Formats: sequence, C-alpha cells, structure tokens
Amino acid sequence: PLAGKVAIVTGSTSGIGLGIARALTRAGADVVINGLGDRKEIDFVCAELEKGCPLSRIAYNGANLMDGNEARQLVKDTIADFGQVDILVNNAGIQHVSPIETFPPEKYDAIIALNLSSAWHTIRAAFPSMKENGFGRIINVASAHGLVASPFKSAYVAAKHGVVGLTKTVALEGAEHGITCNAVCPGYVWTPLVENQIDDTAKARGISRDEVIRDVLLAAQPNKRFATVEELGALTVFLCGPGGQSITGTALPVDGGWTAH
Ligand code: NAD
Repeated sequence: PLAGKVAIVTGSTSGIGLGIARALTRAGADVVINGLGDRKEIDFVCAELEKGCPLSRIAYNGANLMDGNEARQLVKDTIADFGQVDILVNNAGIQHVSPIETFPPEKYDAIIALNLSSAWHTIRAAFPSMKENGFGRIINVASAHGLVASPFKSAYVAAKHGVVGLTKTVALEGAEHGITCNAVCPGYVWTPLVENQIDDTAKARGISRDEVIRDVLLAAQPNKRFATVEELGALTVFLCGPGGQSITGTALPVDGGWTAH
C-alpha cells in the first residue's frame, strides 16, 4: 500500500523505530534509517531490511538530532536524494529517571532537545515538500507519558506532553494540504530504553528490579503485557495508508488500558 512513498524514521537503529521502519519497508515504502550506534551493526540492520523487501530502497543518515540544524539537514538530504518526503516518523528519544531536585540540568536539556525539539525541526523542514505534493503523514512517537505523568520523569513527561501539543498544531496547519499529523502514545514496550531505566527506577523507589517490572511497569498496564514494536509498526502503516486519511491531531494510546484509568 505504500509503494513509491519515501519515509524518514528517526531513531530507527533500535527498538520501536526499527520496528516501524521494518513495517514501512514491508508495506513497500523507501525508508531512511537514522540513529546512533556501531556502523557495522547499522549496515547489518539496513542489509537485513533490504533483503526482506527487495523493492524498497533503504538508506542510512547518521544525523545527530540533539542539534536542530542536523535535524533539518536530515530532511533536506532525504529530499535531495529521494526527491520527496511523504512520511515522517519522529521517534528518536531518550529517558532519564531521577527525582527533580537531583535531576541533572544537562539531562533535562538533552531530553527536551531530542524528544521534543528535534520533531519540530524535522517537521519544519518537511512541510514545504509535503504541501507541494498535497500529501504528508507525520507520526510522532510520544508516550503514555504524553497524556499522564509518573514521578521521577519530569523532563520526559514535559517533552512528551509537548509532542502532543506540537502534533495538534501541525495537524491544523496541514489539514487543508493533505497532511495528517498524529501522536502515538505507547505504554511500556520492551526495548533497550526500558531495560536501561529499570536500575535507576529501582534506586529512585528503593525496590528490586523484579519489583520494578511487576509493581511499576506492568502495574501501569491493565492488560499486564508489554506492547510490541510490531504493534506500533502496524499502527503506523495504517495511519499512512488510505484508512488514515481523516485521522489527524490525535494522541493514540497503545498502552493496554493504562491511560483509561
Ligand atoms: P531505543 O533506545 O531502543 O531507541 C532509541 C533510538 O533513538 C535509537 O535508534 C538511538 O540510536 C536513537 N537516538 C538516540 N540519541 C539520538 C540522537 N542524538 N540522534 C539521533 N538518534 C538518536 O528506545 P525505544 O524504546 O525504541 O524508544 C523510541 C521512542 O519511543 C522514544 O521516543 C521513546 O520515548 C518512545 N517510547 C518508548 C517506550 C518504551 O516503553 N520503550 C514507551 C513510550 C514511548
């Protein structure tokens, strides 16, 4: 359904972004992979994506999205290389868990820069091309923490609520130009980002790792399971396809009922 479409997925060398990139290539889109990591491993990931979908073109762009200029350049490079950008998935993100009074200010700045501002910069750069083509699909990977809060995640929750606000504004600006913009709001998905915060959460709350998984992570999700990167890939493909045409400005929870509480 997405043959001929060009997609950028930020932070797609791992986790949810990689799952979304895989789903988009399987639906026929050309995909620009972005993210940090060991170059050999990234080349391996790109080759594996290409093998599964011989009709899709895969390219890698290593822009560091902490920097707004690089974020805009990622989009410019894609348009120069592929001629257009139809689908923009803003997914790159980091987490830091700490009580606010000891939260390192530089971590706060980094989380706002990557989790919120980079999406503003890529959208700004992609909008003219999408308007010209009368088509655009922007998916911002926010979080259940874009809708509700948890303690010790002040920067992350602020950034993700910001992403939901950005999403609504962009939806209104794109509405008459065939551009939709939605936020997807995962609960907990088992990826390196979640795995890496277990120890810090255990420390902040004074409990064990197993207790973090049972009493903090899965306690938030009434269905008692982690969402999967495949589920987020399938939702993204749906939003990009014909069925998604009228869905815009939303924040869609993928959280097993967490935010229904
Ligand atoms: P992850 O750590 O597996 O992947 C993060 C990706 O971002 C990686 O590809 C990494 O290389 C990239 N990245 C990091 N710093 C970057 C930079 N400076 N420039 C460019 N890319 C950079 O994490 P994930 O769990 O897949 O998270 C992806 C998104 O989903 C994040 O925005 C996260 O907040 C959100 N999210 C995750 C969960 C979860 O439970 N895992 C839940 C809700 C929302």
